[in-house]
Amino acid sequence: MSDRLPGFSTLAVHAGAQPDPTTGARATPIYQTTSFVFNDADHAASLFGLQAFGNIYTRIGNPTNAVLEERVAALEGGTAALAVASGHAAQVVVLQQLLQPGDEFIAARKLYGGSINQFTHAFKSFGWNVVWADSDDIASFERAVTPRTKAIFIESIANPGGSITDIEAISTVARKAGVPLIVDNTLASPYLIRPIDHGADIVVHSLTKFLGGHGNSLGGIIVDAGTFDWSTGGKYPMLSEPRPEYHGIRLQETFGNFAFAIACRVLGLRDLGPALSPFNAFMILTGIETLPLRMQKHCDNAKAVAEFLAGHPAVASVSYAGLASDKYNQLARKYAPKGAGAVFTFSLRGGYDAGVSLVSKLQLFSHLANVGDTRSLVIHPASTTHSQLDDAAKVKSGAGPDVVRLSIGIEDKEDLIADLEQALGA
Ligand SMILES: *Cc1c(COP(=O)(O)O)cnc(C)c1O
Repeated sequence: MSDRLPGFSTLAVHAGAQPDPTTGARATPIYQTTSFVFNDADHAASLFGLQAFGNIYTRIGNPTNAVLEERVAALEGGTAALAVASGHAAQVVVLQQLLQPGDEFIAARKLYGGSINQFTHAFKSFGWNVVWADSDDIASFERAVTPRTKAIFIESIANPGGSITDIEAISTVARKAGVPLIVDNTLASPYLIRPIDHGADIVVHSLTKFLGGHGNSLGGIIVDAGTFDWSTGGKYPMLSEPRPEYHGIRLQETFGNFAFAIACRVLGLRDLGPALSPFNAFMILTGIETLPLRMQKHCDNAKAVAEFLAGHPAVASVSYAGLASDKYNQLARKYAPKGAGAVFTFSLRGGYDAGVSLVSKLQLFSHLANVGDTRSLVIHPASTTHSQLDDAAKVKSGAGPDVVRLSIGIEDKEDLIADLEQALGA
């Protein structure tokens, strides 16, 4: 064996996996079982007491899911990861470890529409209060910090406009405030951006999107960077205080730089229950093997489509950070030099009606509420994903009435452009 550290594409194929020790199966088997037999009573007791690692019950962990966890942790440069049932489940499990009722977290206003809903309504009912900030105005994060702030949450490439967030600048604010920075890296994937390299303490994903990549399986994942000290000032009691359910152990003291991933598993997933099906883990693992190939093609196609739209008379503006003229192009060159992702918006001179009409005329693009599929997708956010927001909030989150969002797939770019041409021109 050479001393070379494996590169990204090698990790995407191999990290976490080995031939099955029992059967020799080369692809990771789907361990479709709810539970696992203990060696003996002592073994069972040590697993339940967190004195030994091993499989108990698929709600807490599963060998297929474990390969997925190790692979994404390797791709993101984290110490450990936890797979869960969806991206939204990942967000709940993360914040449950950090916030007590009455606490606050700061979130960038430019977010996936579902996250805006989750933070505003569902989390409020848990007593977790979101305070909004503007990722184009770093000082707005600083101003939002209070003694009850427990975390900062941003997207690396933000939905729906494809804007690039200055992760390092916001990580500096988080460090100063003594709180972890959580980055939703769904739209970039670790192929384009590795937030931990820029100061993120926790990375979350909707695996449903580019990591799975084929639009066939929901999933989510939490990656622990191992960078945050949870023991200071009693601010994070889930990690620093003795846990009554585990004979009084303190997770930070016992598990060190992967204590957060452990907390998410043994306090979050175990008790809240959003476990990922091993079948979905298998589908997503298969998708990840081709992530570097797909992501590059997604980005190259997106750039070509964005350039075409920018030159079309029916189009008022295109918001794609990969265009030299875009206001986020400098940040894209710094954070995502291989490509600015494949999800972006453009606005139509014809406003709301033109948006609705375009969506109905497109043939190759599917009209649906998802991103990160091999297929190209289109949606009109104002009448769908962001319809719950008032007009001012729609504009603020990049989803005004004239805005159309595209997620560019891996088809031939000439076919995508031809489809847009007929739909815009007719
Ligand atoms: C889809 C998405 C989510 C939510 O993920 P689910 O798997 O649908 O629960 C969160 N963040 C971003 C950026 C997304 O695109």
